[in-house]
Amino acid sequence: MTATHDFFAAPDLVRPDVTVEQARAVVLQEYGLTADVVELGSQQERTFDVRTEQGRYVLKVANPAFSDDEVAAQDVAMAHVTARAPDLQLPRTVPRLAGGLVAPIGSLRARLLTYVPGFPLAQQDFLAPVVCERLGSLAGAVTAALTDLEAPGLDRVLQWDVRHARQVCDLLAPHLGDVGRRDTLLRAVGQACDRLDALSTDLRVQPVHGDVTDDNVVCHRDADGRAEPTGVIDFGDVGLGWVVGDLAATCTSVLHHDPDRPLAVLDVVRGYARRMPLTEPEVEALWPAIVARAAVLAVSGVHQGIIDPGNRYAVSAQEREWQMLSAAVQLPAEVATAALRDLLGLPTRLVAIGALLPLLTGLGDVEVLDLSTTSPLLHDGDWLAPDAETTLTGHRPGATRYGEPRLTRTVLDSREVPRTVALGIELRLATPTPVRAPFAGRVRDVGDAVVLAGAEVDLWLTGLEPGPRGDVAAGDLLGSAERLTVQLCTARGHRPPAFTRPDEAAAWRVVCPDPSALVGLELSGVPASAADVLTRRGAALAGVQEHYYDAPPRIERGWRHHLMDTDGRTYLDAVNNVASIGHAHPRLTRAVARQWELLNTNSRFHYASLAEFSARLADLLPDPLDTVFLVNSGSEAVDLALRLATAFTGREDVLCVAEGYHGWTVASDAVSTSVADNPRALTTRPAWVHPLPAPNPYRGAHRGPDAGPLYVAEALELVRQVERPAAVLCEAFYGNAGGIPLPDGYLPAVYDAVRAAGGLCIADEVQVGYGRLGASFWGFQQQGVVPDIVTVAKAMGNGHPLGAVITRRDVADAFADNGYFFSSAGGSPVSCAVGMTVLDVIEQEHLQDNAVRVGAHLRARFEELATRAPLIGAVHGLGLYLGVELVRDRQTLEPATQETAAICERLLQLGVVLQATGDRLNVLKIKPPLCLTLESADFFVDTIAEVLLRGW
Ligand code: PMP
Repeated sequence: MTATHDFFAAPDLVRPDVTVEQARAVVLQEYGLTADVVELGSQQERTFDVRTEQGRYVLKVANPAFSDDEVAAQDVAMAHVTARAPDLQLPRTVPRLAGGLVAPIGSLRARLLTYVPGFPLAQQDFLAPVVCERLGSLAGAVTAALTDLEAPGLDRVLQWDVRHARQVCDLLAPHLGDVGRRDTLLRAVGQACDRLDALSTDLRVQPVHGDVTDDNVVCHRDADGRAEPTGVIDFGDVGLGWVVGDLAATCTSVLHHDPDRPLAVLDVVRGYARRMPLTEPEVEALWPAIVARAAVLAVSGVHQGIIDPGNRYAVSAQEREWQMLSAAVQLPAEVATAALRDLLGLPTRLVAIGALLPLLTGLGDVEVLDLSTTSPLLHDGDWLAPDAETTLTGHRPGATRYGEPRLTRTVLDSREVPRTVALGIELRLATPTPVRAPFAGRVRDVGDAVVLAGAEVDLWLTGLEPGPRGDVAAGDLLGSAERLTVQLCTARGHRPPAFTRPDEAAAWRVVCPDPSALVGLELSGVPASAADVLTRRGAALAGVQEHYYDAPPRIERGWRHHLMDTDGRTYLDAVNNVASIGHAHPRLTRAVARQWELLNTNSRFHYASLAEFSARLADLLPDPLDTVFLVNSGSEAVDLALRLATAFTGREDVLCVAEGYHGWTVASDAVSTSVADNPRALTTRPAWVHPLPAPNPYRGAHRGPDAGPLYVAEALELVRQVERPAAVLCEAFYGNAGGIPLPDGYLPAVYDAVRAAGGLCIADEVQVGYGRLGASFWGFQQQGVVPDIVTVAKAMGNGHPLGAVITRRDVADAFADNGYFFSSAGGSPVSCAVGMTVLDVIEQEHLQDNAVRVGAHLRARFEELATRAPLIGAVHGLGLYLGVELVRDRQTLEPATQETAAICERLLQLGVVLQATGDRLNVLKIKPPLCLTLESADFFVDTIAEVLLRGW
């Protein structure tokens, strides 16, 4: 047979009948291979997994509808791509013993192909943007390699070729039992094909693979645990086709991975266009081609299930195929195309709307309402109330802004990106006001809206009292309104949503232009992009003052244990141990404002709060720690503690613990040995610093429950070697390493030894103290010791610069030998007001108890998750200081450093701010504000579970 297949002549392509036994026999006879053979799934062919001692193969039995030339063209195409894109892994056709590439099974034709190792991309549930981009790049490389392929058998009429989508759908749609689905499908494919027909003469046709999809792309895992597409299989659909149709096949296959985010295809296109640049008509045709492809898949899957009911592969794909179509039709082609044009640097195509008359006149004084994240109207979390937009803004006449992401539309603890961005404006007027047509057109009702369809654009109004319908002239009365919403939309006949997701907003704004000119007000609320602000930051701020994330959101508000960005997205804040009582606590903001109104000065003046706050701090510590210094940060506190110790002892050697962090000042940096904070930490230690080996029973030199005494012995040996220590300084609970408790008995032994040698013991409580551990207010209480000096900061100021050193009176007095102590802002009236209020809130809101309760819940849930997620090596920590350590292998404990970074990026997209800690940056450090609720804790663990189980 040399003619090529014509689907419309023979549309029922049932898989050929071949048994496993026949497959095994042909492999033995024709290739001399003894094999284990298992059938694989296929829509219209028969394929078998063939495992032999010589290697692994796939036996493919072609559908008899295809000609010799068509079958041979697949082999030619594979060899062609292999030669031109040697970085890709492709199957190779194995010659028969008797020569030739095709082995007969009766009248059927079989070929043996080498097996391409890896896993299919379809197995990866979540596809990260970088994975989509790599997929696109691979698809582009295949198309580019096939450009100059010449072979007989390429000119076929396949049902998968989107050039025939309308006809295929018309032919097969009657098989769709669900009438609603059938209508949706036919409408979608009809509109898509109308657009494609208009562009078709400008669309390139060439040999294409036609099926570079998640099913046919083979991957390996990259270092950060994401899929790295490395190969492509199944050249069964190779033939002439549109380049854009080929790309559409690839794009469509990512839609079901995240159906709520159809613009995930942008990443595929970015990767594709790098290898195979697209023409402008192709960019215009891409979204319609995606819709057409999805429709063909959906209708063909159902048809195949009917003609070949035993084909589990085809039947099981049906729901997924419908999901692809639903995702594609969710977005009007105009919006998707605007996004694609922007991606590829093509100019934005704005519709010229022409001269517009005012919609309303005589508005009088209208207040422009600010509903953004930074709005001064929205405070104390009352913007979370369901009716916040009305009640917070009063009932005054007002106008909302177009393009503004509204804080009032945010959703707490949501993995889905909330639809916050307004695509129109709302007017609240003092009295019913006449509304006039700004341009000529036809008026009709659509649901609760009235739409005026003009020559270029539709005007959508709601809240209009009934008026005329049918044709109107510019300036004609449309009705009157007291509360009116106004939207323009150039996607004709498509009712635009009132709000959209921030990541789709730019494309929607092209299609729904700013209507504020219609009402004579400036109502644009489009925020400055986070990226622009980041550029300004980079230009002015020291680069070494780093920021979280490569593309950080612009966070401009906090509320309790949540953070809000300027897109109105809310994140659960799992890193802010500094904001101990939560963000924007009303008591704190009031106390600070009140104190600023009264006085802020330095501690050489005499005011009551200094005495009261110092006494209150001292009371929090056991005897004999009764004397307080107030400073502005943890670094200062540690620095001062070291100076106290050297002044008191007249010595300079200090012991610290490896992998710790204590600050950035000269002295606090000297005792900081964590290479995660400072990669040069270990090579730049001054001679007076003596790090004790990291007492980490999980992954240190000594492991397991019996490791404690070994670490103690090592530490005591070092204390002995140092001879005349001024002090030992460490965190009493190993915070920086990921919330790892020190081994039992560690500090008692070390403190005893240091004291016996005449040194002092300093507990750095900057991170773990102040109630966070729940079980005790201070970390040192976990070890049953009392230090000589305690350093505190972070939590005590809830983000306000406030730190303290608390020590014995005789140690404090020794500082006089150094001269004098003065810190301009340390212990200022405002700082003292902050410090007192924070302590009041911790006590009165029972936050330490909350740390016990919510911390235990979190820990239990992480321990359960560890039974399902092999990446979790250990769950460390206590109260609301937890560390979830991620490892590639639970035996070798190889740290999953890159995975941890990638997981944190993914968590951000899902609404969680979380960072890595520890020297290997493989511990998720969990230290949220102490007001974390059980509900948010559940959202947090559920979100991490989703990432660990679905991929990142
Ligand atoms: N000590 C410890 C244990 C810390 O974690 C930190 C800060 N990460 C500091 C001291 C330094 O505190 P600050 O950043 O307030 O100077």
